[in-house]
Amino acid sequence: MIATGGTIAMATDPGSGLRRPILSGAQLAARISGLDVPLAHSQPYAIASEDATFEHWLTLAREVEQLAPGHAGVVVMHGTDTMEEAAFFLSECLPRHPVAFCGAMQPPGTVGYDGGRNLLDAISVARSPLAPGLGTVVVMNHEVLPAWDVIKRDSVALDSFSTRHGTRIGTVHDRQLRLLSRPLQFNWLNAIPAAAPSADAVAYVRLTGSPGRRQFRAAVGGADGVVIEALGAGSVPAAVKADVIAVSALVPVVLTTRTGSGPVQAEDSYPHAWDDLLAAGVTLEKRLDGPRARIRLTLSLALDRAYAPFEPYI
Ligand code: GLU
Repeated sequence: MIATGGTIAMATDPGSGLRRPILSGAQLAARISGLDVPLAHSQPYAIASEDATFEHWLTLAREVEQLAPGHAGVVVMHGTDTMEEAAFFLSECLPRHPVAFCGAMQPPGTVGYDGGRNLLDAISVARSPLAPGLGTVVVMNHEVLPAWDVIKRDSVALDSFSTRHGTRIGTVHDRQLRLLSRPLQFNWLNAIPAAAPSADAVAYVRLTGSPGRRQFRAAVGGADGVVIEALGAGSVPAAVKADVIAVSALVPVVLTTRTGSGPVQAEDSYPHAWDDLLAAGVTLEKRLDGPRARIRLTLSLALDRAYAPFEPYI
């Protein structure tokens, strides 16, 4: 059990009177009645997850790499605000280790506290004989969701966690994992960078109608790579197209969609509409959302690799 902070671990700090993520994994596990699973605890850091950096997630990856071989499973307790990014980062680095992330939408001591059951469910998944085939998953609100596709889709709801493409792997009730679909295999990077990448390495731009040219240029200036969340199936407004082409002559540019799901692929409806972008070397990312494409491009640059679109294989 690796505790990293988040709402699941919140308690009132006697000094400040404020809620802070100060409960340890052992304290949280002690609150689950009848938990008869032997647990080893580790706590590399205790933060609210909006403060998580690539450095934190690299530390987490090293921790999992070290602990996983000696244990039946690994559970990571994490703040929910960046849980999907942490799970994806970890999976890019260590795709073959079974890891179950969990957290809470409501803090301990409140009527709606969901941390206990999420933790129990995550432990049940991590120690399941089926876990080795799952890779990294997020276990929230009785659902098992894959790291590549899970999203926090509501800021407060207990059933906030879902997937962009409906790729639910299973459910867990009464300590039993019930598989509903076979998890896809992907071309994960499968490597841990030697040092934490800079958070500024990749510029991340979400396009809108009537985008500002000056704003676009300011956002991408000085970056080693650019991820653009384009409109619809990947449309880039004419107002910034020349700037996208110009920056892609200098650094890798990856295009995703700002829509909640679906691929980037305008070819069928508008033949040749993107020839100029493709000729400029822009990469189309058909599966990942912008934040995940940013992590993949950042890790690719840190590993000295070209960006490979995230693809499943059978
Ligand atoms: N913002 C905090 C975090 O992500 C609290 C949200 C949560 O954990 O649910 O750690």
